[in-house]
Amino acid sequence: MNEPIIQVDHLKVIYNKGKQNEVRSLFDVSVKIYPKEYVIIYGPSGCGKSTLLYSMSGLQAPTEGQVTVEGRNLSQISKKDMVELHQVGIGMVFQAFYLIASLSVLENVCLPKVFRGEPTDKRQEEGIKLLHRFSIVEQAKKFPSELSGGQRQRVSIARSLINNPQIIFADEPVGNLDSESSENVMRILKELNEVDKKTIILVTHNPEHLHFADRIIYMKDGRVVKEEVNTEKRPIEAKDIPDVKYEELSNEMKLLMRTFKNLSLAQIGSLMVPFKANQLMSHILSELSHEQIQVAESYLKEFLFKNIDAETLFHDLDMKYENGGADWNKRRAESFISRVSEITNISRALTEKNETESSKMLVNYLVELFKLKVDKEEEVTLVAFLRLRIRNKIDREELEKKLDAPKKVGGMGMHSITAEKVSREVEIIMLMKYS
Ligand code: ADP
Ligand code: MG
Repeated sequence: MNEPIIQVDHLKVIYNKGKQNEVRSLFDVSVKIYPKEYVIIYGPSGCGKSTLLYSMSGLQAPTEGQVTVEGRNLSQISKKDMVELHQVGIGMVFQAFYLIASLSVLENVCLPKVFRGEPTDKRQEEGIKLLHRFSIVEQAKKFPSELSGGQRQRVSIARSLINNPQIIFADEPVGNLDSESSENVMRILKELNEVDKKTIILVTHNPEHLHFADRIIYMKDGRVVKEEVNTEKRPIEAKDIPDVKYEELSNEMKLLMRTFKNLSLAQIGSLMVPFKANQLMSHILSELSHEQIQVAESYLKEFLFKNIDAETLFHDLDMKYENGGADWNKRRAESFISRVSEITNISRALTEKNETESSKMLVNYLVELFKLKVDKEEEVTLVAFLRLRIRNKIDREELEKKLDAPKKVGGMGMHSITAEKVSREVEIIMLMKYS
């Protein structure tokens, strides 16, 4: 699901290579299309849009580079599989419709099924349904020449859908249509994407169509020059999350990543700092005055941003208000900083160390902090529960329930107050990750 449905790598296409009429049509084009996306390939006439589309659909062989569709390298698949792909994997819609003049509308629509050897009545039933859907059922018995351009294009869309392919390629599908028919056909394609969840790759040189797409790939002179996203449907790319699986991120992090699509994980980590400082303060402290907390929080923020070190933080916390400090005393500042350091150390271990090592550290930390009494067997159970939480397989509440539940039903049998404290501590440690 997170894999691209189509992947083009360093594609180069040269027509008539080595001959006098050699044309270099594509230079080093790399593109990824994800399932259920609606992507428009846009650019001036002759920039290589159709060549790219035909390469993606296996109709044009690459001179260099490769194209993968649904995990299959098109240069390596058998003829039989290529035929199968063209019959049921992808649907094609062209500017020139390519309907067969001597066949009726219904016969044209059902043609791909004839190739698959399906019985007549069954395939016609499907065909009629599609003609209905696109409001051309009255034209079923007519021949293509008796139809308007818009109607012909709807017939050709119906034909592309008859074997229910996952991917639809459309090359300037409304290039020959008046504006009303264009709008109608473009709306149909949008609906196929939104309602039927088809992956759509459409080529156009008309800027008025761009708003239909989730993503626009701009081409010029045989190269991709720009990309624009209207609706992000791609999964967050592995490159944005070094060594971290998306599912393992905290919900706060996921929310931020969706909100700030273009930011790296590190940048999002920074965005989280004020929130982290705030949470950490209220987690550790309770009986200080509002001012003492506020000033301390601003210094803690600087510490989490790594603008100041622990020693400076200590001085700032201890200093009197009038000198710009938080007006704590030395003992409190000391114990606070040691708590902060412990929490940040453990959370760094969770990011940097392997799972066995880091979960062991976390368990030791929790045992020490809450004076937990756990034997070897209980420790194994605790580690297992903590790992579930760290991988975001369960949430805070579920962890608390597991800690609280009696041993005979597979829980840890902790006192409910301890279970709550432990799960909160784990939460704050998870929040401090990825900075
Ligand atoms: P677009 O669809 O953006 O108008 P094309 O992919 O059709 O562009 O064409 C890109 C370039 O390749 C153009 O210069 C075109 O003339 C050339 N070209 C396309 N198809 C062929 C072909 N079959 N033989 C030779 N040259 C071609
Ligand atoms: Mg073209």
